[in-house]
Amino acid sequence: MKHFTLADGSKMPILGLGTWKSAKGEVYTAIRQAINVGYRHFDCASAYGNEDEIGQAFADAFAAGEVKREELWVTSKLWNNRHEPSMVGQSLDKTLKDLQLDYLDLYLIHWPVAFNAETQMPRDGSDMISLKNLPLSVTWKAMLAEKEKGKARNVGVSNFSIKKLESLVAETGVHPAVNQVESHPFMQQKELKAYCDSKGINLTAYCPLGSADRPANRKLDTEPVLFENSVLKEIAEEKGCTTAQVMLAWAVNRNTTVIPKTVKEHRLIENLAAADIELSDDQMNRISAIDKKYRYVKGDFWCLEGSDYVVEELWD
Ligand code: NAP
Repeated sequence: MKHFTLADGSKMPILGLGTWKSAKGEVYTAIRQAINVGYRHFDCASAYGNEDEIGQAFADAFAAGEVKREELWVTSKLWNNRHEPSMVGQSLDKTLKDLQLDYLDLYLIHWPVAFNAETQMPRDGSDMISLKNLPLSVTWKAMLAEKEKGKARNVGVSNFSIKKLESLVAETGVHPAVNQVESHPFMQQKELKAYCDSKGINLTAYCPLGSADRPANRKLDTEPVLFENSVLKEIAEEKGCTTAQVMLAWAVNRNTTVIPKTVKEHRLIENLAAADIELSDDQMNRISAIDKKYRYVKGDFWCLEGSDYVVEELWD
């Protein structure tokens, strides 16, 4: 497996398994199968509600001698209702307990959005905390403290714009190791990637296949479908691979880390194999030209009446 080397020298396997929407009852088997077919990087989050089952799969895989803890890269994320500094360590401890691990390889601030402690998903603005009252840099300092304790070997962020990344550095002098954001051939994040490359920040691509299994209320009938794109299909034909593999190979060939989700064994194998597919400069250029800056995960669900969150500022 190819690696992305982070600024501190940590080696992150370039392709990992996403676990959002991987339901309890199926995620255990998916994780065990993934380990057996060669996955060494797992993208988790407390908000996905399945970390306990994933932890059991890790524990059983270790006990069966299939893999060692130090061979895995495990990421998790701080949920939006735990931005208060005193809650960051508690939240990480809960994730470690659920995952049955004593450290994470990477802990991310999931969104640049804060909720009240008792709110899992906000119904209106009264469930949310303004970033003016709980700045991201305050949460970031608490994340850095957890890194110092060794409970998270690396810390980073997710869904952060260049402006928000810069605000963290201005306050603390420390760049996040990783910024995990939506990235696929219709949302290539060229400016953000160039910025991250220039600062030694890894860009991890989420929704690399277009996230077809998103909840229906977060989908539009009019949205473009990556799998139907003629350029991606042509390149798949040229390479003798699948369209999904072209999307994942494109992510790897441009040196982003990528975390496709599946719970199906044949797709686990198909997706992992994409990390070894080399695309030519011509193929990369043709994919570069189909960027639409189209966001599937719009973040508008956080921009509720009565809060001061607005979409333009979320992605500023
Ligand atoms: P995705 O990986 O783009 O797409 C997942 C969908 O594609 C599922 O419906 C899956 O179905 C299907 N699929 C997987 N492999 C396939 C293949 N080879 N051919 C055809 N279809 C295939 O979407 P995602 O789950 O939204 O994103 C990936 C991961 O990124 C998440 O699971 C999560 O870990 C992370 N993420 C993070 C954030 C964040 O805010 N930080 C947001 C979104 C996602 P089956 O499972 O039935 O195979």
